[in-house]
Amino acid sequence: MVLLVTVVNKKKITILGVTGSVGQSTMDVVLASPELFDVQAVTANKNVELLAASAIKLGAKSAIIADKSLEGDLQELLKNNDISVASGARAIEDAAAQDNDLIMAAIMAFAGLVPIIRALEQGTNVAIANKEPLVAAGAQIMALARETGAKILPVDSEHNAIFQVFEESNRAAIDKIILTASGGPFLNWNTDDIESATPEQACKHPNWVMGKKISVDSASMMNKALEIIEAHYLFDMPADKIEVLIHPQSIIHSMVAYCDGSVLSQMGPSDMRVPIASALGWPDRIESGVDKLDFSKLSQLDFKSPDFDKFPALRYAYKCLELGQGACVVLNAANEIAVAAFLGGKIKFGDIMKLIAYAIDEFYPTISSSSLITIEDVEELDNNTRLAIQNRINDRFL
Ligand code: NDP
Repeated sequence: MVLLVTVVNKKKITILGVTGSVGQSTMDVVLASPELFDVQAVTANKNVELLAASAIKLGAKSAIIADKSLEGDLQELLKNNDISVASGARAIEDAAAQDNDLIMAAIMAFAGLVPIIRALEQGTNVAIANKEPLVAAGAQIMALARETGAKILPVDSEHNAIFQVFEESNRAAIDKIILTASGGPFLNWNTDDIESATPEQACKHPNWVMGKKISVDSASMMNKALEIIEAHYLFDMPADKIEVLIHPQSIIHSMVAYCDGSVLSQMGPSDMRVPIASALGWPDRIESGVDKLDFSKLSQLDFKSPDFDKFPALRYAYKCLELGQGACVVLNAANEIAVAAFLGGKIKFGDIMKLIAYAIDEFYPTISSSSLITIEDVEELDNNTRLAIQNRINDRFL
């Protein structure tokens, strides 16, 4: 009798931001197929309990907390386990740079930039949920990936959808890519009510359960604005070939339209485990653990054009792509500061857009952005924008 044994080479992965919404969904996907993955490291910012619990469940080799003051707590929580412990931003960067086959970039916002760069420098593939680094430093990230041969695997559901149906060999035949948008919780609200919405209302997304920052971005449609810029860099598409379409059911996650009239779309339940499994498994398909779509129960799929007056963030995305990378850095940084101030009860929801308008229409023209060549240049502009917007909030110049 001949015994056929299939040897599966486990993928060595590191999950950055394991305690977040995407991070926990990534953990679920990994645990659904433990024979496929060898978890090197998991990281978090402050949530030491969930970090320790996740490290144990995943059998990770190391756990890293960004906040150095919490390293002792992490040591204590993991003292009976064979998991090494470290702390600080530098330790997270080192974890991204170690011998991984893939990192999951799921840290919140611009703070996730440097670990992504460290992984790409090693030629490590990056599953990227963390859109803000792509918005601010997409040019540098994509150039570095090309240089080292690392693969960027989009995890944002829309970009993962496009990735699945984008025929690189027929690039010239692509008419446009169509990013679908649920429209967020305020799709059918009037402008006055939107202006005075509370953080609780803004974070109540109709279809997705997500971290607070991206939930607020979805409510202002800044999330879609950031995704327009993200798509521009990920797929090397000009702004005039990127369209947004409201699709409240979030079943079609995005589409690519070709010159022959064919439109290819990716569909699936609105559950981040689907794009996460697609990225973690690539180039293979793996189980995600989600309930599959039952088309007989889908009564209808609706589509409509977005309202640029109600959601001016979309207009700013196109404007920033026209102005260049510096404007994209400014847009992202201003938004991060404004959203944090809104969540902290310092400003009203409507003030977020006022600060964006100030950042792009008044602050951006005062800076010289022609020399954004290195990541350090991007970081400097990001930092200067944050200071300018924070000062404006402190001075109540709204
Ligand atoms: P969460 O806020 O839920 O989680 C963020 C994660 O990043 C947590 O693990 C957090 O640790 C960690 N973190 C926060 N700040 C730092 C820091 N300064 N240094 C190191 N780690 C840090 O965010 P989401 O999971 O919602 O989103 C993560 C990224 O993925 C964002 O860029 C978002 O735009 C993108 N994304 C999210 C989607 C979603 O469905 N949630 C969908 C598509 C994209 P701690 O828990 O300790 O604070």
